[in-house]
Amino acid sequence: MADLLLGQVLSFTGDPFLDGPEAARLDGAVLLEAGRIRAVGQADDLRRMAPQARVTDYGRAIISAGFVDAHVHYPQTAIIASWGKRLIDWLNSYTFPEEMRFADPAYAEEVAARYLDLTLAHGTTSVCSYATIHPESVDALMAAAQARGQRIWTGKTCMDRNAPEGLRDTPQSAHDDSAALLARWHGVDRLSYVITPRFSPTSTPDQLAALGALWAANPSCLMQTHLSEQLDEIEWVRGLYPSARDYLDTYEAFGLLGKGGLYGHAIHLEPREKDRLREVDASLIHCPTSNTFIGSGLFDMGGLKAAGHRIGLATDTGGGSSFSMLRTMAAAYEVGQLRGRPLHPSELWWLATQGSARALHADHQIGNIAAGMEADLVVIDTASTPAIAQATARADTLWQALFPTIMMGDDRAIRAVWIAGKLHQR
Ligand SMILES: [Zn+2]
Repeated sequence: MADLLLGQVLSFTGDPFLDGPEAARLDGAVLLEAGRIRAVGQADDLRRMAPQARVTDYGRAIISAGFVDAHVHYPQTAIIASWGKRLIDWLNSYTFPEEMRFADPAYAEEVAARYLDLTLAHGTTSVCSYATIHPESVDALMAAAQARGQRIWTGKTCMDRNAPEGLRDTPQSAHDDSAALLARWHGVDRLSYVITPRFSPTSTPDQLAALGALWAANPSCLMQTHLSEQLDEIEWVRGLYPSARDYLDTYEAFGLLGKGGLYGHAIHLEPREKDRLREVDASLIHCPTSNTFIGSGLFDMGGLKAAGHRIGLATDTGGGSSFSMLRTMAAAYEVGQLRGRPLHPSELWWLATQGSARALHADHQIGNIAAGMEADLVVIDTASTPAIAQATARADTLWQALFPTIMMGDDRAIRAVWIAGKLHQR
């Protein structure tokens, strides 16, 4: 059964950071068939193309690619918005005790389902998530996403030091458990395994080397970790790896720097680190609500985009304070303002869809609306609250109409979500 959706269909023909807001276009309809987008265009043309299609008319609502959240910790769902800590204290006080609970497969399944329900309610159709050290935590999220038909990435978080008893693996078990999970899930339906050392302070050099070898043997996998989030973390890394040139070098020396590498935060980068990350075309993942909530610092979106870096946008749940990519776009705008570079709404929307898909090397599959792409869509009500509606009423352009929803919108703005061409709930 084909579905014809009518509304304001928003897609990108380029990167608005390079091409300006003109890189976005609006059409009147999108035709979905067999889980993919068959055509985008004017309603009459698409009706002629598929006269039997079921028609859903969303009126003036915006139909966009579903949001792509490029860095989250689904096991931290229940500790979101916990008060008063910075990075290292945050991990010890909130994160590690909660992650301990994922040794219980029933608990992992419960939180995985809750997490995907919450993110779908906020219009997020794809995520790249850390799990915990327990293989069961990977199985739980993979199975939940598979049942919902979602394209996701996740991997077992590896830690063999500076974590409590019960949350430590070894270089060998990290390698072997990751390899077994990779064999079980990578490339099954829309699921991808991502090799996941948490960050240099919680891995020994032996563990980083074992995971570097696993990545070299499985180059179709992405690799995710954290980089230069807080200044005292960088000092800690300097003490743990005295021969490293800088933080990035602790990954580079062990085969963990490459094009499929995802580096979360990347706030306090040295010139050498920026150069190397750009040379290998690695992905930097900006997590603005987390960076302000945990007090980490201000990501240099303007400078890094201008230098040609590949950048995605993410909530970093639960260090981030929201499941919403709308709230995350608003925080990216605020961080940009504090750095003197206000991001245009077209840039924000592109980051939350195509930018993140590109950071995950999946921009040929998700993150945009174009013929042949997978049909993951979000339908946005641009008048979802009285405050937003009265601001939007004054708008003359698409971006003026969307910006109040970016700044003030939440799950009430999400009118519908389509995953692989199927309407999800609502
Ligand atoms: Zn993180």
